[in-house]
Amino acid sequence: MHYDCIIIGAGMSGLSAGIRLAHYGKKVCIFERHVFPGGLNSYYPRRGHFMDVGLHAMTNYVPDGKDHKAPLNLLLRQLRLRREELALCPQSFSLIRFPQRELRITNDWKDLMGQVRQFFPEDHDGLTRFVEWLTKEDVYHGIWPPSNAAECLAEYVSNPLLRDMLLFPVMVYGCPQAEQMDFQMFCILFKSIFLEGLARPKHGIKPLLDTLVEKFRANGGELALGRGVRRLHGEGNRLVAVELDNGETHTAESFVSCLGIPETMALCDDRVGDDWTHWPTGSMGFMETIFQMTCPPCELGLEACVTFCSLKETFRYQLPADGEMEAYVLCVPDNYVGCGDGPAARQVRIAQLTRPAYWLDMEELSYRRAKEEMAQRSALLLDSQYPGFMEHVDAHETFTPKTIRRYTGKVNGVIYGSVRKSRTGETPWENAFVSGTDQGLVGIMGALISGAAASNRLLTSI
Ligand SMILES: Cc1cc2nc3c(=O)[nH]c(=O)nc-3n(C[C@H](O)[C@H](O)[C@H](O)COP(=O)(O)OP(=O)(O)OC[C@H]3O[C@@H](n4cnc5c(N)ncnc54)[C@H](O)[C@@H]3O)c2cc1C
Repeated sequence: MHYDCIIIGAGMSGLSAGIRLAHYGKKVCIFERHVFPGGLNSYYPRRGHFMDVGLHAMTNYVPDGKDHKAPLNLLLRQLRLRREELALCPQSFSLIRFPQRELRITNDWKDLMGQVRQFFPEDHDGLTRFVEWLTKEDVYHGIWPPSNAAECLAEYVSNPLLRDMLLFPVMVYGCPQAEQMDFQMFCILFKSIFLEGLARPKHGIKPLLDTLVEKFRANGGELALGRGVRRLHGEGNRLVAVELDNGETHTAESFVSCLGIPETMALCDDRVGDDWTHWPTGSMGFMETIFQMTCPPCELGLEACVTFCSLKETFRYQLPADGEMEAYVLCVPDNYVGCGDGPAARQVRIAQLTRPAYWLDMEELSYRRAKEEMAQRSALLLDSQYPGFMEHVDAHETFTPKTIRRYTGKVNGVIYGSVRKSRTGETPWENAFVSGTDQGLVGIMGALISGAAASNRLLTSI
């Protein structure tokens, strides 16, 4: 078959790009290796219903009717989605917890500023200045010169504890490398978490993905699930065809890949230059245990939607020693306003950083044992903080970078992709773009925005 555009991967960004291109009458096909769409934010069947792969929170939430230029509202218009179709439940509150201080975040930035005034009065004005500057800044457009987020933040916030407390949620929600975060990426995520807000789709990720897929197909798009791409064929500076795992070959005028740059380059059959073939891979692995509880978690004191908890007084975004935990992110879906009766009811999800190679190199039996040990440690830790936790655990399951690599093909099983990004989405081919994670836009909303941007760019050229 010959298409106007072939999209490789039905991640959030691939679906979003597909919807827009199909809407404008382009003949588009998305080839996805897995049998379900969604990529890093997909779902899987378990005990008679569908479990979300990740989904702690969707960022960029703004209430209906507020700020029609906010990324969520722009995206709804670009994808022609009705807000009700996302069924977003806003957070009640979340916590940033350090041994020496706790801050509460809501979808109203003023709540956090009130606590900053109380606990860090010396930094209230500086942080206000930063936010005033950021509010006016168009963080999504243009490419800023590289700079270190922690150093830039220090120009506004003098207290190292407050800096750590602000950096923690932002870095765990998108930073691909240890210790350092790019300032532009920090600003994008800071705005989306703190100045906009957090929400969760009431019925989990599957209905949201179903809506995206329906919209794509209704516009004439083809979604080919279970049909992975094994080779990319180029001619000079253009990509011309994809070869599928089943041997079929399809050609197109243009291409979008949401696989990540190293993953896309690994499919190339011709020389594209060392800069592209040696694109650095990411190393920040995450693992998560999902506990299914026998009672609503709030009865055990787990009242926040998300808890960003540092077990140390100083936060370092780095991989802990194997089998150890220095910080974790806890999500309780029930606590989002209106989510208590959703499919994720009574779940507690605990995510932490982990070294991918530790899991990827392990043989099967040790791997299963190590996963079980980590789940036990997490349960014990939560029991010490929320007494009675362990006796209310009904079932649990754990996934690691090995699981992520198996189901999405991510090199090293990392979530936030390469440490180097192609902010313009450009590739070695003039008619192909990357979208999503390795364009530097992460998370569900980041990926959706990135896909829409990639399609806008293509619409002018095909
Ligand atoms: C455990 C976990 C928790 C998360 N929690 C949140 C959260 O709470 N909130 C949030 O906003 N974000 C969260 N994220 C991040 C978010 O899911 C991602 O940033 C986003 O979904 C990335 O989308 P993408 O379009 O860049 O690509 P991906 O999701 O990486 O999609 C790539 C797709 O390509 C497919 N593919 C790979 N190789 C091939 C091939 N050769 N041929 C065809 N198809 C192929 C893959 O199967 C996949 O479907 C989480 C991620 C994980 C893993």
